[in-house]
Amino acid sequence: MSSRAWNPGSAGAGGGTHGRTARRSAPSAGGGPVVLAKQAPPFRMASRELHPENSVVRAGEVEIGSGRLVVMAGPCSVESRQQIRETARRVKAAGADMLRGGAYKPRTSPYDFQGLGRKALAWLAEAGRESGLPVVTEVLSPEDVDLVAGHADLLQVGARNMQNYALLRRLATAAKPVLLKRGPSATIQEWLLAAEYLLSGGNPDVVLCERGIRTFETATRNTLDLAGVALAKQLTHLPVIVDPSHATGKRALVAPASRAAAAVGADGLLIEVHPCPGRALSDGEQSLDPGEFAELMATLHRGERAMAAGE
Ligand code: PEP
Ligand code: MN
Repeated sequence: MSSRAWNPGSAGAGGGTHGRTARRSAPSAGGGPVVLAKQAPPFRMASRELHPENSVVRAGEVEIGSGRLVVMAGPCSVESRQQIRETARRVKAAGADMLRGGAYKPRTSPYDFQGLGRKALAWLAEAGRESGLPVVTEVLSPEDVDLVAGHADLLQVGARNMQNYALLRRLATAAKPVLLKRGPSATIQEWLLAAEYLLSGGNPDVVLCERGIRTFETATRNTLDLAGVALAKQLTHLPVIVDPSHATGKRALVAPASRAAAAVGADGLLIEVHPCPGRALSDGEQSLDPGEFAELMATLHRGERAMAAGE
């Protein structure tokens, strides 16, 4: 990134090298005040400046960004046919809109469970069809895009891959929408520029996902950047959702973080739910069981009704 970074809300001075100058300043001939040029943001197609209305992205029959909170729920990893079918049934009954589940897992350690690949994709797609829920799953590499797109309604780019430009360029030509997670150390500008790779490459269907960033704090797995969500909503027309599971790393924080995300204007939530979190092969400590998920859904609905009533 340019060291003279673009700064949201600032006028002119210090514009990045990618930015357009929206209004040129004339040199002040008579020694009067110099009008600084307003610097347009470098993420042109993602910016609200050129596209003031919210974009709505469709995944299967579900509309993301239409003003209703969309909830995507399911296990970190698809572990068996029975596990994903049961999860799909339970999250659907609780009111989820979409089913999540990982078949290809980006794990920090190569010795950890890496996902079940193709067979997990097939089980996930089957569970989605059975429950009537569109599915979201991660694609790790450009070679897998066709395979994953054949099974999923929304293609997740994981946080570790946010700046994998070969993957982004390939996904720009995919016929499915993309869920772009924010990298753990990415600035909002870098996140929106990653989205720009997808948009400028030909895929207009991009949903952003804040999943916590790395800070000095170690009490939570990551630090949920809620102000960043509100700011992203101001800067871009793309839908922005929140993943409170990876953001907090703690089951007990998932519900309050979800309510906070809804309150700052997130368009949706991505929540890990496992039929038996204690036995999960990945991320059990941050996964809700189906009963806890149903309780959270009830409080979110109460909150939505209260907001609609202006309480
Ligand atoms: C996930 O969704 O399970 C995942 C690995 O997320 P992230 O890329 O945000 O770490
Ligand atoms: Mn996970």
